[in-house]
Amino acid sequence: MSAIAIPGKTKNPALSSTGSRRTMKALVYYGPGKKFWEEKSTPAIVEPTDALVKIQKTTICGTDLHIMKGDVPEVVPGTIIGHEGVGIIEEVGSAVSNFKKGDHVLISCITSCGKCDYCKRGMYSHCENGGWILGHLIDGTQAEYVRIPHADNSLYHIPDGSDEEALVMLSDILPTGFECGVLNGKVQPGSTVAIVGSGPIGLAALLTAQFYSPAQIILIDPDDNRLAVAKKFGATEIINNSKVDPIERVKTLTGNKGADTVIEAVGIPATFELCQSLVAPGGTIANIGVHGKSAELHLERLWAHNITITTRLVDTVTTPMLLKTIQSKKLNSRQLITHHFKLSDIINAYDTFQNAAKEKALKVILTSE
Ligand SMILES: [Zn+2]
Ligand SMILES: [Zn+2]
Repeated sequence: MSAIAIPGKTKNPALSSTGSRRTMKALVYYGPGKKFWEEKSTPAIVEPTDALVKIQKTTICGTDLHIMKGDVPEVVPGTIIGHEGVGIIEEVGSAVSNFKKGDHVLISCITSCGKCDYCKRGMYSHCENGGWILGHLIDGTQAEYVRIPHADNSLYHIPDGSDEEALVMLSDILPTGFECGVLNGKVQPGSTVAIVGSGPIGLAALLTAQFYSPAQIILIDPDDNRLAVAKKFGATEIINNSKVDPIERVKTLTGNKGADTVIEAVGIPATFELCQSLVAPGGTIANIGVHGKSAELHLERLWAHNITITTRLVDTVTTPMLLKTIQSKKLNSRQLITHHFKLSDIINAYDTFQNAAKEKALKVILTSE
């Protein structure tokens, strides 16, 4: 994602379209371990396709913790973090036709022009003028205001009377769990699914896998609290892999076959290698995890077993469909939210989210005043 052109990156965002200088508060990254809630210039419309959104609610992602650790070196010091949230349109550029001032909108973690070759193929994540840029290559959503490039294709209308907090889960984790895990993993009615990792993303895969009525969904994680949550969310079996051998247990549960779909929702070599020992002949390993190191591929075992391994960056092409399932109460995304903070209390929210196991935290919601 390094060679893409960033819309409006080089222009001065400090001046609003009326030329007045205004300020806001935002969470700013200043290198590994350093972040401050501080005064910044309010962003302004730079390109005619931009919208300026006043943030109502946002959240913190596992990816933000990676950034804070220094694992995502493209994020330069001075960047406002965050790529999820809902808000109200403050101003739109002259070329924005789908949105107007006052509209309530869901912000997608993926920015997409809707016009380039990749967008035309539904691969918004690889948009030549977008992709994952929010809180990464341009300023993000953990702020009072955010500039959204390609607003027509990167924002979604929130229907009146919606549970806006529940919709924050649609910015990233639900489409990620669904597209990278469930769709790529080809979950089928009556099939068996094993999900390695019971964090927010693994749980998002668990919730959305149930659209397809698999016969078994087995959650594997070393944290008993997260496994208890998984059970409540519809897992048919839970395995604490710090106490029980997950390979033997999955074999027992699946009549010695393994799981038809194995979803990797952690992102370390050990969990990807575990997935290779859990998959049934003819099955699919669907990777969601963000990997920073190479993992061993056991082709000596897998070569004859008709295995598919898939990778994907979330494209957020399923967001409109997922929004309807939340509206119709088929999908209860609110249950992923465990903690609430004021946006101005975001430093404490980070502390809680960083100690997720101790704090029993899944997703935190930050609300602006
Ligand atoms: Zn995220
Ligand atoms: Zn595009």
